[in-house]
Amino acid sequence: MLKSRVNRLRDILRVKNLDALLLQGSVNLRYFCGFTGSDGALLVTLHQTLFLTDSRYTTQAKTEVLADDVLEYSDKLAAMDHQFNVLLVKHVGFESKVLSVDQFHRLENKCSTLTFQAVDDELSSLRQIKDEEELSFLDEAARLNCVAFQEVFPRIQAGMTEREVALDLEFTLRRLGGEDKAFDLIVASGVRGALPHGIASDKKIECGELVTIDFGTRCNGYYSDETVTFGVGNVSDQLRTMFDVVLHAHDLALESLEIAVAAKEVDRVARDYIHDHGFGEYFGHGLGHGVGLEVHESPTLSPRSEVRLGAGMVFTVEPGIYVPGVGGVRIEDTVLLSMDGYRCLTQCQKSYRAITCT
Ligand code: ZN
Ligand code: ZN
Repeated sequence: MLKSRVNRLRDILRVKNLDALLLQGSVNLRYFCGFTGSDGALLVTLHQTLFLTDSRYTTQAKTEVLADDVLEYSDKLAAMDHQFNVLLVKHVGFESKVLSVDQFHRLENKCSTLTFQAVDDELSSLRQIKDEEELSFLDEAARLNCVAFQEVFPRIQAGMTEREVALDLEFTLRRLGGEDKAFDLIVASGVRGALPHGIASDKKIECGELVTIDFGTRCNGYYSDETVTFGVGNVSDQLRTMFDVVLHAHDLALESLEIAVAAKEVDRVARDYIHDHGFGEYFGHGLGHGVGLEVHESPTLSPRSEVRLGAGMVFTVEPGIYVPGVGGVRIEDTVLLSMDGYRCLTQCQKSYRAITCT
């Protein structure tokens, strides 16, 4: 499996006319050579793969990493420069989104005879199509979401703060086996629901409000991402209309999924429906994003996306309406597109429900 991934890296070398790829980001190191530590470098040429790391990780790397050789350094830049010279490398593809400007300047100064070319997009597009093992980890992360939410939901009551709900959910996800939270969990109630990224606050949840909870965890490095919106007692007709419009936009977008459909077309289906119901100006973000070793990765589903969706891609569908001073709704599933159609990995109930208000 890792071997075929390295072979696809070599396709990048051929297409871009590069002598080597230099990978240092933890996500790409994990994906392309199996390393789960925090500091190392993978050098890939047409004929060789070398993994460089320091003494903290040498033993770990020797068991985890698929490479022709694992080498230990005390000075990372000097070690990379030395290997580039040994391998007669001149043109190097690298991850411009991983290195800071400072790190890149140091690399350029140390390896002054080399030329560097960013290959971030090529690397992330290789990770778009998930294999069976990746899908099993994504399924497990999504399953934990469902089990945790089913446990926590009956405990949510008016009078609790958003933070109390978020902590309960976060703790439950970890207790069930999640490695970490996927991001700062969003619990946005009432008017705070109009903040698309309303991280849980000390605000109390009150009767008559909608509550939006966006949450996820991580299993074997792979993330879950899901959003549920529900009512607290009776909500206004306006809030209920917003909910129904978002749910229908979500369902229409799912129904539009098929192999080779343009990602922006799926976005358009949901966006047009929301627009036609008078809420167009209140849906500002893209419809979805890829999910894998990163919570947000390729492909992007937005009006500007140029991707066509393919079998094996895993991405979110998450339309929303956010009306300042009133409230908000978002409904999000993470889905797998395959030759058989689509399948929601995330399983929490998305249709309307309300907790009782006492
Ligand atoms: Zn989310
Ligand atoms: Zn998302």
